[in-house]
Amino acid sequence: MPRLHKYRDRNVCYVLTAIRGAVVTFQLTAEGEKKLAAARIGPNEQFPRALLLDLYRTGDAFTGGSAAASLALDSAGQLEMDFANDPDPETAFPACDVCGGVNDLYLTIRGKPEDLVAQLQCAACRNLPGTPSDSCIPIGVLSRPVLSRLFQVKTVGSRSSGVKQFEELLRSEFESKWEALRERRGNAQTSLFDAGPGNGLKLSPS
Ligand SMILES: [Zn+2]
Repeated sequence: MPRLHKYRDRNVCYVLTAIRGAVVTFQLTAEGEKKLAAARIGPNEQFPRALLLDLYRTGDAFTGGSAAASLALDSAGQLEMDFANDPDPETAFPACDVCGGVNDLYLTIRGKPEDLVAQLQCAACRNLPGTPSDSCIPIGVLSRPVLSRLFQVKTVGSRSSGVKQFEELLRSEFESKWEALRERRGNAQTSLFDAGPGNGLKLSPS
């Protein structure tokens, strides 16, 4: 499971987790830190991978940044943090279509105008020589509507497995929001039905 850490010299937190055998550092936005604090997750505590996936989806957790390498060394003693019993697999994190890395990913669109291909690529792989990119966008700024619109405007012919995985991540959050809403509505209805004539509309704290 991912673990929250605090920088020694700054009042800022970051997250370490293992993905596909590599330690990955996620920086957090102020909003991301706020969400974890609201969930009562403090420094040195582990939390479910689903929360990190959600922060990643919203751009509140992001990879890259200059401090990443030294942080991984700093915390080398804490590599026991992932593994086991997390229902959301580490493979739910989108990865570079070329090398499988998860750091600093961009959506690239390249190819002939009538046959464009969308891929996810890390910093190193998107700079390899080859067909120049038509578009190159950090995935942290992409939401589901923006992505759909982009594929319409660009008439992208094919999407790599990394892009499909990223779309799946955006979509899975969308569905879980609806699910939460349905559950809340279901509960509200149940409590109305449960309230017998004698109880009026008195709402139970459950
Ligand atoms: Zn790569």
